[in-house]
Amino acid sequence: MAHYPEDLERWRRAGAISDRARQLGVRLTVPGARRREVADAVEQYIREQGAAPAFPVNLSRNQEAAHYTPSRDDEATFVAGDLVKVDVGAHLDGAIADTAETVEVGGTHRYENLVRAAREARAAGIARVRPGVRVDEVSRAIAEAIRARGLKPIENLTGHSIERFLLHAGKAIPNVPGMSDATLEEGEVIAIEPFATNGAGRIENGPFGNIARFRGDPGPADPALAAMFARFHTLPFATRWASTPEEAAALRRARRALQTYAVFVEEAGGWVAQAEHTVLVGPDRAEVLTGASGDSG
Ligand code: MN
Ligand code: MN
Repeated sequence: MAHYPEDLERWRRAGAISDRARQLGVRLTVPGARRREVADAVEQYIREQGAAPAFPVNLSRNQEAAHYTPSRDDEATFVAGDLVKVDVGAHLDGAIADTAETVEVGGTHRYENLVRAAREARAAGIARVRPGVRVDEVSRAIAEAIRARGLKPIENLTGHSIERFLLHAGKAIPNVPGMSDATLEEGEVIAIEPFATNGAGRIENGPFGNIARFRGDPGPADPALAAMFARFHTLPFATRWASTPEEAAALRRARRALQTYAVFVEEAGGWVAQAEHTVLVGPDRAEVLTGASGDSG
């Protein structure tokens, strides 16, 4: 039996906003651009569309696969040849979309094989989506597309199902076969996100990436924390989103109420490209919610 979100139109709107936000981030990721300003501009765009960021704009570079967002005092700029994963998401009242593209800054074409492998794997995975299909079939298509370019899929990062206010819900969509017994069900929303690398094909935890998440409601005892929980719920947020010195101080005090995220770094120092779309499992195929522009390849 199909279980579509009852507010499906809201999920489609969140997808369209995320699609345009990702494209804006890609356009802004040029040599000399400050990465904090790129993140701020994309998040501001999402808010101007009447949505909220579902997580901080991730701008992970080179050997970093994911989970880096600039801190408030990050003054670093992009340089030609940087391989930047622009990973963005918007939500409308908990209806979330999540999408990513990899930019080779300055168009140096040194890592085009990696960028293409991730995009082709995303398209190959999406092409397998239909109700009743084994997740393993999607994973196999993703891995084969990356290996066809002589590269490795990152085996310990996965796509994921998405539910209201839950970016990573119960079902994983692995990027290699042999890891899932699940099947896809009509009406599910899933993110498909292959990572391709010229390294070992695994990531490990690096330093704190300036992203945290409330494990649960911290309660009213600390007004600054309560105000932040009202804004972010249990979704990931950037430490730079603390809007007052009181909130920044509360975050430092409240480490125990928070899950903090480490940057994911390629284990062997390989470079990493990622491509991601959020799709709805439709009656006979995927509806790409974050690819309204037709840019789903
Ligand atoms: Mn994702
Ligand atoms: Mn993502």
